[in-house]
Amino acid sequence: MALPDPSQIAEIDGRLSGLSAEDRLRWAHETFGARAGIGTSFQPAGVVILHLAKTAGLPIKAFTLNTGLLFPETLAFKAEIERILGITVDDVQPEQTVEQQAATHGPELWKRDPEKCCELRKVQPLGRRLFELDLWISGLRRDQSAERASTPLLSLAGRPDGSDVWKLNPLVDWSKERVREYLAQHGLPHNPLIDRGYRSIGCAPCTVPSSGGDERGGRWPGFDKRECGLHTRTKK
Ligand code: SF4
Repeated sequence: MALPDPSQIAEIDGRLSGLSAEDRLRWAHETFGARAGIGTSFQPAGVVILHLAKTAGLPIKAFTLNTGLLFPETLAFKAEIERILGITVDDVQPEQTVEQQAATHGPELWKRDPEKCCELRKVQPLGRRLFELDLWISGLRRDQSAERASTPLLSLAGRPDGSDVWKLNPLVDWSKERVREYLAQHGLPHNPLIDRGYRSIGCAPCTVPSSGGDERGGRWPGFDKRECGLHTRTKK
């Protein structure tokens, strides 16, 4: 399968912009085949992407970064989505267990150095997975936060060695309301933590309910940190 040339990115982006999210995913599958992968943390947009791929008959494999520190509710929700859609979402895990990390870097690294903890438990595992992919499909949306307001539909991201991997955000221009409507129309659930005031749900030690701010509110309380690095550290 011949991959697109990076020089074509603006032309392809323009073409994909006029397509539905389902047709963007169809392009992804037809262009990258088994080298395309959906990365999801089971936020509402991720559930929409998994459902769109499934109902369109696109066998795009999916993965999640299981840091070992996710909420039990998120793990149960993952199992529920897998059951509803009849899919398996691959767990991508860090090199070290939480206990091994505590022995190497001290206990509760997230309380002292969340950048390092995210690097070890999210960014590095993602980097290893990206070597197995030529297209990373993600659920970023522009209306999530000021930091994500200029997120491209199609871009090139970087693997740990600096090589290119294509990145597609098929719902980049969807609003929060549109995502919510899609879930309701198709009878799809959301992570029950949302009903308890959580906005963006990540690792349990670094996520609290949030009544203010944007959709990324409630992450890393007490730290000047807004992103785990998955999308910022891989940006080209
Ligand atoms: S979100 Fe918190 S616990 Fe999870 S990897 Fe990052 S710092 Fe560690």
